[in-house]
Amino acid sequence: MSDAFEIVELSPHVRAAIGANGASNAAFIQTADGVIVVDSLSSIAAASALRDEVLDSGQSVIAVVLTHHHADHWAGLDVWGDVPVLAHTNAVKILQAVSVEYGVRTGEVLPFPALLRLWVGRAAADLLGVDSTNGIVTRLKSLAAREPVRLPAVRPIDPGTLLADGPVRVRIESLGEGHGDDDLVVSVSDVGQDVLILGDQAFFDRVPVVGGPYLDAWIDLLDGITASGSAAILLPGHGRPGRSTAPRRQAAYLRAIRDQSASVLPDDWDDERSRNWHDVNRALLRAYKQEESRTVDESRAETTE
Ligand SMILES: [Zn+2]
Repeated sequence: MSDAFEIVELSPHVRAAIGANGASNAAFIQTADGVIVVDSLSSIAAASALRDEVLDSGQSVIAVVLTHHHADHWAGLDVWGDVPVLAHTNAVKILQAVSVEYGVRTGEVLPFPALLRLWVGRAAADLLGVDSTNGIVTRLKSLAAREPVRLPAVRPIDPGTLLADGPVRVRIESLGEGHGDDDLVVSVSDVGQDVLILGDQAFFDRVPVVGGPYLDAWIDLLDGITASGSAAILLPGHGRPGRSTAPRRQAAYLRAIRDQSASVLPDDWDDERSRNWHDVNRALLRAYKQEESRTVDESRAETTE
């Protein structure tokens, strides 16, 4: 048994690996045609332990679906060999853009700046920088030193696609922009219990990563899940599974960020600008840096008195 995840049964044919300490989750769906894997954990070591624990000999994996382009959800992809990897068209485009920008072809090891960009997204990668002493950057450096993370070959799949039919139906869906603009949701109709695999649209028991420009849409999307009153079990991208009321806390957190950030935004910003979360993040960072240098100046003044 690995201490990187815990296996939880969500329905008769769906099992989830819940990442330890809020790390990314993965899911396994047993269909009539074979196993569909959703996401592949944050390292090859964790993913191969998961494969050995979950797959019986004779079971074959027919597809891996990526919920979005962030590498903390697919750094362990190599363990599935030549199985087709499917993702949102926009996720495929992001991976292609990284390929061009960093001159790395599919199957090649990602240089560290490219890995950071794919792990946390462009906005956060720009904000942190590769030399940051932030924990996420140092942990990622030690992972990259332990095992190579390669640029995966990924094919686009359209929302609405029925990936498996029969007693266990698997449909690819999109709930629209929220966490990003490349998030897929996997909807499973299983015998007696439906499951909705939400990827990073949902963070339960953990603070969500907020960096994209779609904060309003994200709040609406989460409210919509709760309002639907769906009986499905929800699997978030990070944290433990929940029911339809589980997104409430995340929506409240996002609302608080949106409302409180308004107090540091420049007066001349109109509503539209205030809704562009990339711009808001920059304004928050500027306000933070001003506050930081003011505090440093004050403490200098105190020590010279
Ligand atoms: Zn994630």
